[in-house]
Amino acid sequence: MLSIDRKTFKIAFINKFVEIHGVELKDGTNQQKYEALAGIVRDYVSRTWLKTNKRNNKSGQKQVYYFSMEFLLGRLLGDALLNLGLRDVCKAALEELNINLDELENFEHDQGLGNGGLGRLAACFLDSMASLNIPGNGCGIRYKYGFFEQKIIDGKQVEVSDEWLKEGNAWETRKANKSEIVKFGGEIKVDYINGGMNFTHVNYEPVLAVPYDTPVVGYENDVVNTLRLWSAEAVSNEFDYSSFSRGEFLQAIEYKNSVESISQVLYPEDSFYKGKILRLKQQYFFVSAGIQSILRHFKKQDGDIRFLDEKVALHINDTHPTLAIPELMRILVDEEGLDWDEAWRITTNTVSYTNHTILAEALEKWPIDMFKTLLPRIYMVVEEINKRFCEELWNKFQGQWQKISDMAIISDGQIKMAHLAIVGSHSVNGVAKLHTEILKKKEMSNFYYLYPNKFNNKTNGITHRRWLLKSNPRLTDLLKETIGESFIKHPTDLVNFERFLEDKSTLEKLGKIKLANKEVLTNTILQTQGISVDPNSIFDVHVKRIHAYKRQILNCLRIMDLHNALIDNPNLGIEPRTFIFAGKAAPGYYLAKNTIELINSVAKLINNDSRINDKIKVVYLENYNVSMAEEIVPGTDLSEQISTTTKEASGTSNMKFMMNGAVTIATLDGANIEIRDEVTDDDIVIFGLTADEVFNYYKFGGYNSIEIYNNDSRIKRVLNDLINGKYHQDKERFRSIYENLITYNDEFFVLKDFDSYIRAQDRVNTLFKDPVKWQKMCGQNIAHSGIFSSDRTIEQYATGIWGSEVIYKNL
Ligand SMILES: *Cc1c(COP(=O)(O)O)cnc(C)c1O
Repeated sequence: MLSIDRKTFKIAFINKFVEIHGVELKDGTNQQKYEALAGIVRDYVSRTWLKTNKRNNKSGQKQVYYFSMEFLLGRLLGDALLNLGLRDVCKAALEELNINLDELENFEHDQGLGNGGLGRLAACFLDSMASLNIPGNGCGIRYKYGFFEQKIIDGKQVEVSDEWLKEGNAWETRKANKSEIVKFGGEIKVDYINGGMNFTHVNYEPVLAVPYDTPVVGYENDVVNTLRLWSAEAVSNEFDYSSFSRGEFLQAIEYKNSVESISQVLYPEDSFYKGKILRLKQQYFFVSAGIQSILRHFKKQDGDIRFLDEKVALHINDTHPTLAIPELMRILVDEEGLDWDEAWRITTNTVSYTNHTILAEALEKWPIDMFKTLLPRIYMVVEEINKRFCEELWNKFQGQWQKISDMAIISDGQIKMAHLAIVGSHSVNGVAKLHTEILKKKEMSNFYYLYPNKFNNKTNGITHRRWLLKSNPRLTDLLKETIGESFIKHPTDLVNFERFLEDKSTLEKLGKIKLANKEVLTNTILQTQGISVDPNSIFDVHVKRIHAYKRQILNCLRIMDLHNALIDNPNLGIEPRTFIFAGKAAPGYYLAKNTIELINSVAKLINNDSRINDKIKVVYLENYNVSMAEEIVPGTDLSEQISTTTKEASGTSNMKFMMNGAVTIATLDGANIEIRDEVTDDDIVIFGLTADEVFNYYKFGGYNSIEIYNNDSRIKRVLNDLINGKYHQDKERFRSIYENLITYNDEFFVLKDFDSYIRAQDRVNTLFKDPVKWQKMCGQNIAHSGIFSSDRTIEQYATGIWGSEVIYKNL
C-alpha cells in the first residue's frame, strides 16, 4: 500500500498537469485533468509493477497466463485508486483544488474489449489474481474498436463504432521491442533429415504482433500484474516501399490493410459462432504471439523447456484460444526438437480449458479448407492430434463407429474446437454446478466417460472490490460500521451482517442507502431518456445482452399483460414499478433487435398512458456497459434472472445484484441455483420449469405453444396485440416475435413459463409492501453473497487447476 499524503498528491497532480499539457491547471479542461490524474496514478503503479516483475523472475513461482479473446475492463482509474489505497487521499487533494473526483472519472472511456459476461469474467479474474498475489497475466487482443456503441433511435438499435482510443489510453505501454512474428498462409516444405522430418514454412504472410501492456493492480498488496494485448501491424522491413513499382506499391498497401484488419474490431456476437476467416485469424494471431513471447521469456529465465509444465499454466477462456494447443505443440516439436509424446505430455499438462456454453449455435467449428489454407502447419499438427486420438478411441470403443466419429476432432469437413480443447488439456471446467453437470451427463458425456478426472466445476464470481467497494460506497460504509472491515479481504465474512438484520435501525439504513442509489439512477434516467420515474417505486431491472434464451420477451409480455390488467382495473393493488432494461443485440441478430424495438414501443405507449396514473413506467437505457452496470446495480430492487432453465451457463450479473442487496426473481438456471442454496427459498423468488422438465421436453417432445395460447386469455391478448397495430402502426413490425412463439413453437418456453412468472411477480409485489420484510431479504442476500467473490473462484482455479500457490499478503 502506498503511503502518500494529501499535500504530496496535490503537488504531484499539479506538476503532472503542467508537464503533459503545458498550460496551467486553472485553464485546463476536465478531460485534461482526468489525463493528468491517470498519469500520476500510472506513475505510482509503475514502481510496484517493476518490483512485481522482478520478484516473479526471481521467485521462480508458477506463472499463469489467462488467454481470452475478450477483456471487458470498463474504466480503470477508480479501480486503481481503490486498490492502491489512494482513493480518499486523492479525493481530498482534488477537493482542495475544487475538483470533484467522481466527475473526473467519467472522462475515462470504458475499455469495452468484450461482449458481456465472458469478457467481464476475464476482467474480474485479473483483479482477483493480482489481489491474491498470484503471478497471473492476461493475454488478448488490442482491438482498435471495441464493442460497438449503441444508440436507440426511434426505438431501434443503431450501432456506432467505439473509438475508445481517440483520446489516448493512459494505462497502456507499447512494448515494440517485445514484438513477435505470426505467420499466415504459405506452404509447408518437408525435408527428411537423418530419418526425421523437418518442416519449413515458406511463402507465408508475416504479421508483426506488437504488445501493449496494461497494469493490473492488486488490492493493497504491492502487486501489479500485467494484461498484455496484441496489436497487428505490417512487418515493415519485409517491404521496401520505395522500390515497388506502381502495382507492387498497391499490393504493399493491400498487405498493410489486410494485416491491420486483424486487430481492428471486436466481433459483436455473444454466444454465437460465425465462421468468419478474420475471426480465425484473430484467434491464431494472439495465441501464437502470446505463446511465442511466453516461451521466449521462460527460456530467458534459464527455464528448461522439458519442465515448462511445472512453471507455466496456460488457461483458455472458452474455445476461442484453443489454437494454443497445436501452437505449443508446433513450437515444442518443430523448433525445440522434442519428440511428439514428450511435447504432448508438456502441452496437455500446461493447458486447461473453461467451457462457457452448451448452446449449439455457439460451438466453434472451422471448415477444413479455410483452416488449412490459413494455417497449414497448424492443420498438420491438428491432424496428427486427431489421428492419435482416434486410435485411442478405436482401442477403447471397438466397432462403435458412430461414437468415434461423434468424438473425433476432425469430422464432417470441420475441426471441432471444443473437442480439441478437451483432448489437449488436463482440465475442463464448467462455470456453475448445473452447467458442469450438464456437460458431464449430456453435452460431453462421451468425453466425461473417457476422461472423468478432467472434468470439474468452478462456479463463476465477481470482484467485490469493483462491484461493492467501488460501485456502492454507501453500502460499503454501512457494512464497515456494522461488521468491520474483515470482509474486504475475506468476503465470506459478509455473513456477519446477518445478525444485524434483526436490528430495525440497520434495516432502515439499508432502505435509505437503496433509496439514495435509486435517486442517482432516477437522475440519470431523467438526464439521458427524459423520463421521470419515482425512486420509491420498485426498480425492476433486466440488464444483459439481448438474446432469445435470456427471455427479455417474457419480461416484456408480462409488462404488456400488467398494462392490460391496469386498464381493466385502475384500482389494481400493485406497488408502483419502474421496469428498467438495457443491453445490446448483435447487429445481425434480427429477433434480438426486434425485441429492443418492442420494449421501446411498449415503453412509449405505457409512459404516455394517463389512465394508469404513473403506476408503471418502462425505461430502456442506451449503451449498456460496465460503467452503466456499476450505476444500475446498486440502485436495483429486483434482479431479473429469467433465462430458460439449462441455457445460462452461470450468469454473473445475478451475483452483482445479490451482493448489492437486490432480491432476485429467477429460474433455477446457472448460478441462480447456488444463490438460492445460499439464501434459501425464503429470500429469492423462484419460478418456471426445472432442468429435468426442460430435458424431458427435448427428449420426448410434447410441448405445444399454441395450446397454451388457446387456453390462456392473457397470453392470447398480448400475443394478438403484437400483430394488431397496438404497439406499432406497422402491424407486421413485431411479426417475427409472434411467429417465434407460435409458428416455431417457442423454443425457449416463454409461454410455458408465463403463468408461473406472473405469479412469482405477484409474490414480489406482496413482499415489497412490507418494507421490514423486504429489507431483511435484501440484507440476507448481501450477507450470503461473499462466496460469489471471484477471489473464491480464483483460489479454486489456482489450487484445483493451475497448481499455483496462493499467497495472501498484509492480512
Ligand atoms: C456482468 C456484466 C454482464 C454479464 O451479465 P449476465 O446478466 O450475467 O449475462 C454483461 N455486461 C456487462 C457490462 C456486465 O457488467
